[in-house]
Amino acid sequence: MTRRTKVIATVGPASEDEATLKAMIGAGMDVARLGLAHETLEIALERCARIRRVAADVGRPIGVLVDLPGPKVRAGVMPPEGAVLLEGTTIRVTPGTEQSSAEVITVDYPDLLSDVHIGDHLAFGDGAVVVEAIDKRGDSLEVRILHGGPLKGRPGVHIPSDRLRITAPTPDDLRMLDAFVEVGVDMVALSFVRSAHDIRRVGTEPVPRGPLVVAKIETRAAVQNMESIIEASGAVMVARGDLGAECPIEELPHLQKQIIQRCIALGRPAITATQMLESMISAPSPTRAEASDVANAVFDGTSALMLSAETAIGSDPVNVVETMARIAGRADQEFDYSGWANSLAGLHSSDLERQSVDDAVTNAMSMAAWRAATETGAAAIICITRTGFTVRSIARFRPQARILGFSTDERTVHQLTMSWGADPALISGDLTLDEQIDHAVNSAHQSGLARAGDLLAVLHGSTQYPGQATDTLRLVRLT
Ligand code: PGA
Ligand code: MN
Repeated sequence: MTRRTKVIATVGPASEDEATLKAMIGAGMDVARLGLAHETLEIALERCARIRRVAADVGRPIGVLVDLPGPKVRAGVMPPEGAVLLEGTTIRVTPGTEQSSAEVITVDYPDLLSDVHIGDHLAFGDGAVVVEAIDKRGDSLEVRILHGGPLKGRPGVHIPSDRLRITAPTPDDLRMLDAFVEVGVDMVALSFVRSAHDIRRVGTEPVPRGPLVVAKIETRAAVQNMESIIEASGAVMVARGDLGAECPIEELPHLQKQIIQRCIALGRPAITATQMLESMISAPSPTRAEASDVANAVFDGTSALMLSAETAIGSDPVNVVETMARIAGRADQEFDYSGWANSLAGLHSSDLERQSVDDAVTNAMSMAAWRAATETGAAAIICITRTGFTVRSIARFRPQARILGFSTDERTVHQLTMSWGADPALISGDLTLDEQIDHAVNSAHQSGLARAGDLLAVLHGSTQYPGQATDTLRLVRLT
């Protein structure tokens, strides 16, 4: 059985050369992520162009996801040998960009003193060091080290998001977004969103003309506003790195399940991210806990699994992608397909009452397609789709039949690389609808996916009422 859960790999210094990118695609990378928190815009644009070239060479659609950093706060650079902070001691944190030391840490957040309250916790380096603000003196904050540890380079600083006065998207985010929209990027992720309003401020055109907007759920406010954020977004990321600092860590596994379930119910792909195979930054095989985490994210219903530092700066990015693809593919075999679909089919439209009429029609048709395909044991479900919505809608049901998404729009094809279980392909816009269906059915046949006698479910819109929802389902028997 082929893998259904998608793999997103972050491209960084360890994986940016053509040979490595090619090998990562071969190992199972479906989407390449470019993180703008660590790189300049120029480097990221260059990497984007290179990924496109290599993907065209290989002949497989690879989506490009650019991740905007949002209001990310960083500490001033640590001494070359690093600094070790000792639990129980008191140090100063002060706004500025000068070098940090074990006694004074600078942070590039001018409003630090007014925004942080006494009693607030700040975390450095993804939780490596946690401090509590105990006093304000002159231009700095006096903090007690709650959890000590070593800090190197320019660690990120986590300030409770409801204290930050600067909101996502930042002016810098919007500037970088413009540059990527210009080159036709497929997907864009927004960090530290707090409300659906933050998503709407991105202001890009609807898909597929604009990028699919991915909301990263990593603030307490975003958890509270989850439902409206999911509705306003094209997809969602469970951004466990920052979410784990914002919420009690014991809540994280449950938030992951809850976010994924709501996303899938609403037909939005869900990404599970951060520290999935963290030890593989340097080790050749994952910890047992990591292997289980990857499989469990699949059982939770995640559409895609994400690699961050593992592939961006790790010692063997290709091996990490290959390992993740293998664990995910095996977990896909054990996934409770019928349990998932039946619980989704039990959701009534009142749960989805804010959807548009077109979406409601497409969602109803995809449910019919899932039922028909399941009942007849169809070999595949073919979707002729303009925006990709039909594919995302049928993917809600996690059908065992393969989902083939054909679109005349190349960006739709690229955006579908992140959709659970979808095999996206480009189809010529010069063909009539009937010719497109013919082409799709023939290519399912030729690829060996379906044989003579097999049934295929085909979902499409109608030419009689063009531009409307997917309103037609056919069952085609291959002869
Ligand atoms: P980041 O987002 O890696 O850009 O911080 C993901 C996360 O917070 O988990
Ligand atoms: Mn984050």
